[in-house]
Amino acid sequence: MFRSDLGWPACRATYANPRSGLVIHYDSVDQGLAGKDHSACLTYWRNTRAFHMGPSRGWTCIGYSFMSCAHGYVLEGRGLYKTQAAQPGGNTTHYSVTLATGPTDPITPEQIDAVRELRRWLTEPGISASGTVLGHRDFVPTSCPGDRAYALVRNGTFERPPGETTEVHDMLGLRIGSRGEAVKLLQLRIGRAGFGDALGGTGADSVYGPATAEGVRLCREYVGSRALAGYGDEMTAHAVDQVEAAVTKRALERTEISGAVLDGDHAPPEG
Ligand SMILES: [Zn+2]
Ligand SMILES: [Zn+2]
Repeated sequence: MFRSDLGWPACRATYANPRSGLVIHYDSVDQGLAGKDHSACLTYWRNTRAFHMGPSRGWTCIGYSFMSCAHGYVLEGRGLYKTQAAQPGGNTTHYSVTLATGPTDPITPEQIDAVRELRRWLTEPGISASGTVLGHRDFVPTSCPGDRAYALVRNGTFERPPGETTEVHDMLGLRIGSRGEAVKLLQLRIGRAGFGDALGGTGADSVYGPATAEGVRLCREYVGSRALAGYGDEMTAHAVDQVEAAVTKRALERTEISGAVLDGDHAPPEG
């Protein structure tokens, strides 16, 4: 949807021809848009523009080039060939797109596909922007675009062709320093795999520190990885796979143990 469809006048930001790629952003507050009607996205986009152009920001226009919403639509912000107010250091070299998600909002498959469609459009011969996808935090220290979206940036999900099915993996891409619900999920998995003690007194505190790293390493060792020092520092695809395998292995062990007890208690009569 173009800005003219929203009744917005032409954007007066200065000309730029960003050709180096696309930068992903989020909202620092959960918006719950995936669970609402698409009209809520239009309201969100209008409010964002009003905020960016209002007294607290005073920009000439909404800050971002585009938004990709949870329902799979791309909404125009500043649009093509405009300097942005999105990622200092990359406002004239990279286009920007916000997912309008908060730290624990889901990123939907439709939304991922909308980013891919946008990226494909930007790389068409008439526009010729590069297909590289980065996160806001690649430019300046910031939580943006959140751990979940940044994991998808890092593992190349947004750079894949549109239409390819995506399984969004919450734990993929987490690493020492990550925070939030996805880290908590990982810590609960470590506990389920039988290594909750490694997390220490704070338990599942949603912060990926050395204790969580050790928990990950122990999970990996448990399923046969060499699990050298550093193997718990980042949730690579192998690490996610092995943590999940550790949870499964532990669950099977517990079943076997309780199964044995059950057999003892309810042993069928001989003969
Ligand atoms: Zn941002
Ligand atoms: Zn929407």
